[in-house]
Amino acid sequence: MRRFDGKELVIASHNKGKLREIAELLTPFGINVSSAADHGLDEPAETEETFVGNARIKAHYAAQATGLPALSDDSGITVDALGGQPGVHTADWAETPDGRDFPMAMTRVWTLLEERDAPLPRTASFNATLVLAWPDGHDEVFEGKVDGQVVWPMRGEEGFGFDPVFLPDGETETFGEMDPARKKDMSHRADAFRKLVKGCFA
Ligand code: IMP
Repeated sequence: MRRFDGKELVIASHNKGKLREIAELLTPFGINVSSAADHGLDEPAETEETFVGNARIKAHYAAQATGLPALSDDSGITVDALGGQPGVHTADWAETPDGRDFPMAMTRVWTLLEERDAPLPRTASFNATLVLAWPDGHDEVFEGKVDGQVVWPMRGEEGFGFDPVFLPDGETETFGEMDPARKKDMSHRADAFRKLVKGCFA
């Protein structure tokens, strides 16, 4: 596995929630972090049907465009009773002509579960794939997951995206209610990040 021994890293994302969480996770490593927007990059089309496929597109695009190593995250919520949907299309389900509307996307998920009369608990997982890509085309891939269930109604103002309806196994608070420091320790992104640190930073 290739080690990261540079000083600068581009986070290949435009998602403010992800940028905040990833920058926070990188703090202990003393790396200068910039975002795709800082480099004036646009968002490449995510044309793959897997988290790893889309994470690779984003990381390689940013690494090629900036000449710096780039770290991407492709993530989403996989709902078992919906055959794994929305999965890689999680962000798409929130898309409206005026921007992303996550309450609408969460309502769509819950409505589908109700229509299918899905038994409780409505099990789901959050998945995150991190790809660290270098300008020479090399990459390393790390996958993280946290199991839980979709709950209703939405609970909590913390976090982003689907956090208000995701209750991780063994917890009493949704990701939306939880102290962000706790989410930082136990999330799908933290799981993938621990593997990245072990492989490339340790
Ligand atoms: P993408 O990886 O940019 O295609 O989008 C992933 C989408 O999954 C985000 O827009 C969020 O809606 C959702 N998502 C990923 N990680 C989280 C999380 O930690 N909390 C809540 N929603 C998340």
